[in-house]
Amino acid sequence: MLYSKSPVYLPNIELENNGKKIYYKLMYQPILNPYNKITGFMLIPIDITREVEQKEYVENLARFKDEFLYSITHEFKTPLVVISSALQAMETLCKDELTDRIKRYLNRIKQNTFRQIRLVNNLLDIARIEAGHIKLFKRNQDIVAITRLITESVSMFADLKGVELLFSSDINKKVIAIDEEKYERIMLNLLSNAIKFTPKGKSVYVEVSTREGYVEIKVKDSGIGIPKDKINTIFERFGQVDSSLSRNAEGTGIGLSLVHMFVDAMGGKITVKSKENVGSTFTVFLPDVITECISENDCLGDLCDNRLIQAIKIEFSDIYFDENDREKKKTIET
Ligand code: ADP
Repeated sequence: MLYSKSPVYLPNIELENNGKKIYYKLMYQPILNPYNKITGFMLIPIDITREVEQKEYVENLARFKDEFLYSITHEFKTPLVVISSALQAMETLCKDELTDRIKRYLNRIKQNTFRQIRLVNNLLDIARIEAGHIKLFKRNQDIVAITRLITESVSMFADLKGVELLFSSDINKKVIAIDEEKYERIMLNLLSNAIKFTPKGKSVYVEVSTREGYVEIKVKDSGIGIPKDKINTIFERFGQVDSSLSRNAEGTGIGLSLVHMFVDAMGGKITVKSKENVGSTFTVFLPDVITECISENDCLGDLCDNRLIQAIKIEFSDIYFDENDREKKKTIET
């Protein structure tokens, strides 16, 4: 105050009046003489009880909403997992009793169960991230090999849609620390969107490039593109270019918001460039660092493979293919 001659605020204080809490903001206001010298000061207490109470109320409400969403989503998940296991059991144990017609109906149930599981998983992840409970299990992994594996694993879906899927990298091997499961989720979302929004006969490219201090992974499509005025909303929760019920593609608009959160959590960045009717390019930048914790070879083997297959089925459940492609579809199912 001596130097600035301006009011100074002290930390808010909390008092009790007949059992009720009251809050004050304290302001010291300097009294200046005509020579701009401080001759005294006034202590002005400002009652901010209503403000504090309202803030607490809003915070409690937000916490309650998050807890409610988390627990209700959890309740949705349990029966979905039971339905999914029962379907799996039916497909393996009653294999010979199922007619083609029943199999077709079962596939519909399965695809829609996966869609619901996808939604529930995404909502649970968002709730976990917002509550600060996101856990990263970073391991040193060959990002080129993982990206190639993920791309190859979804090539059948691209084939079904008549979309060409191409992978390239400027380096054979590059080891960096990543959370493999989160990275799979990021790539599967970007790839399923690219395939979903690219028409038959066009291409999707996945490119890995090494740069000074980071690795760049591009998912480039030649699809419908994103209008300029919508490009900032697609990373927001429930942000969709076309959210009408009559839209061409299925989806909930939360995949990319989760992708953004996962990339952030891994210390990376994601950007998008797009032109309507030309295509979109999503670029993920991941830091070129390695962790000392766990070695590159500490792989989960079968568990990784099964998780990837399951994750692909769930992530691609939003894409409906031509009914005439039933034969090809059967190959994917098996
Ligand atoms: P969802 O695909 O489930 O709707 P996302 O969060 O993954 O949710 O995507 C949000 C929206 O962003 C999509 O609904 C779509 O409008 C737009 N979008 C995402 N990727 C692409 C893409 N490659 N091409 C065109 N539009 C896209």
